[in-house]
Amino acid sequence: MKKLLLIKYAPEIFLKGLNRGKFERRLNDNIKRVLEGTNYSFVSDQGRWFLECEDIEEGIKRVKRVFGVSEICIVTEVAANMEEIQKQALKEIEEIKPATFKVETNRANKSFPGNSMEVSREVGAYILRNSEDLKVSVSKPECIVNVEIRERAYVYSKRIKAVGGMPYGTNGSTMLMLSGGIDSPVAGYMMARRGVELNCVYFHSHPYTSERAKEKVKDLAYILKEYTGRINLYVVPFTEIQMQIIEKCREDELTIIMRRFMMRLACKLAEIHEVNSVTTGESVGQVASQTMEGLVVSNDVADRPVFRPLIAMDKIDIMDISRDIGTYETSILPYEDCCTIFVPKHPKTKPRLDSIRKAEEALDIELLVENAVKGTEVFR
Ligand code: ATP
Ligand code: MG
Repeated sequence: MKKLLLIKYAPEIFLKGLNRGKFERRLNDNIKRVLEGTNYSFVSDQGRWFLECEDIEEGIKRVKRVFGVSEICIVTEVAANMEEIQKQALKEIEEIKPATFKVETNRANKSFPGNSMEVSREVGAYILRNSEDLKVSVSKPECIVNVEIRERAYVYSKRIKAVGGMPYGTNGSTMLMLSGGIDSPVAGYMMARRGVELNCVYFHSHPYTSERAKEKVKDLAYILKEYTGRINLYVVPFTEIQMQIIEKCREDELTIIMRRFMMRLACKLAEIHEVNSVTTGESVGQVASQTMEGLVVSNDVADRPVFRPLIAMDKIDIMDISRDIGTYETSILPYEDCCTIFVPKHPKTKPRLDSIRKAEEALDIELLVENAVKGTEVFR
């Protein structure tokens, strides 16, 4: 009798038709990656793969957050004979103690006597004979005991919900504007969960923002890496741009012009590193620069799709995700980001595109962008 894990893929992967193999291979690679350093092996029986882990709890903990895995079932392998199956099925019920149950059978081994309905009925009858106060419910059982009959038989009723989403690396790439705040790591996580490969960019205003602010962003990228594997973090020197804006533009337009430069630079880096899109942690109405008008004006300089997965979310809900994924504690550390230092007292909340474009004529945009790109540091 052996305990194995049955890993269930997100149903969307099955809709992929001819590409399905590609998605599955990527998912398998990603599962192997998170299991590195543990003792495990894959066991195959008539086309079904099971995972055997020396430390089963550790295996579950790691695999359940691999994007594309929707559920993990803890399976007991027994000999393919009715008596063994019945005994194990009863044991599962005794551990879970439900009020109602049903048995579902999948019989891939056609030499096993009886069809799947008959097997379910026999196993169910055995469970009923050997327990008290237990009822069968076909429509709404509290517990489903699954029986899979192959070369060996596999019995399971414990299911652990996993993260879902799509296998990381199967849906293009994005340049995540990663600040030290709560929102942008969550935005990155949400894109990664849909299979989009993450690259991160952080705009650093040395010496107005400390080395620790930069370290904090690196730490956040490091936490995201737990879900994705290797990530590149581009740290862009932003001080010269901010100084120029302060010198040459009106105070109430500082923020929006600064945001346009961030957008230009994120797009530029995306172009250089062949990244498809840009992602930000913006949420409509959250702060002065995230009004609809502000979003329109900063979007104006983008030359590729800009994704804002948090756009319609409340801060409270974003904070909940941030706690779940483990970035919250780092995000709330009090190191300032560049925006808090150069904040005007009364930023424009309804900037007009034509007047902002006009204001930027005072700046040598191309040169500023070029210098910032030249000074960019990469952390892998
Ligand atoms: P966050 O919690 O992600 O910092 P925020 O609520 O503080 O967001 P803003 O400061 O207006 O909002 O920033 C909006 C978005 O712009 C951020 O979510 C992030 O994607 C990006 N951003 C802001 N500052 C920086 C920075 N210094 N480096 C990289 N991206 C940034
Ligand atoms: Mg911020």
